[in-house]
Amino acid sequence: MTLKAGVVAVQGDVSEHAEAVRRAGEAHGREVEVAEIRSAGTVPDCDLLLMPGGESTAISRLLHSEGIAEEIVAHVEADKPVLATCAGLIVASTDAGDDRVEELDLADVTVERNAFGRQKDSFEAPLDVAGLDDPFPAVFIRAPLISDVGDEVEVLAEWDGRPVAVRDGPVVGTSFHPELTPDSRIHGLAFFANDDVTLPDSREESVPDQ
Ligand code: GLN
Repeated sequence: MTLKAGVVAVQGDVSEHAEAVRRAGEAHGREVEVAEIRSAGTVPDCDLLLMPGGESTAISRLLHSEGIAEEIVAHVEADKPVLATCAGLIVASTDAGDDRVEELDLADVTVERNAFGRQKDSFEAPLDVAGLDDPFPAVFIRAPLISDVGDEVEVLAEWDGRPVAVRDGPVVGTSFHPELTPDSRIHGLAFFANDDVTLPDSREESVPDQ
């Protein structure tokens, strides 16, 4: 069965995530079709979701005003996977430390916006990530710091002694931008190598005898 991936597209970097999830699916033998989420009604049809980077205050405002926020919460309550990156993680957190962000409480983490510096301080670093054999080329752009994680949260990667990739059940969150390199292993980890998630079985793909 072809999986349907929804990319939150109210604001931020969308097409790179669409490409990355298609590539990750290919690497795991699954076909993925991508839908862009701009209004209510699309999320309930999606098997997996991506919450991209961008500007967390704008993303938060639009998710709530469009009625998409509660659909994403229901998606996670059904143990369907989410990859939330950078601003996406800020919105998915339990505490964004900013009144303009209405958190979705999808991942039990506290974040500090822009703690890694301004746009000019963007950097790339090779990261050791739990579940990946070789370091991942992580691109940090005005990235949030994860300052606190709940008891149930698994830290997948740290930079400078601080968590920068986490897993909380079906939700994987990164401070950095895994979609900005040709390497789609973080998408693979979030969607196809996460025991905590429910995805439709590929066996349903078989066509019944005519
Ligand atoms: N600084 C942005 C914010 O706080 C996040 C940056 C990003 O997603 N690259 O919303």
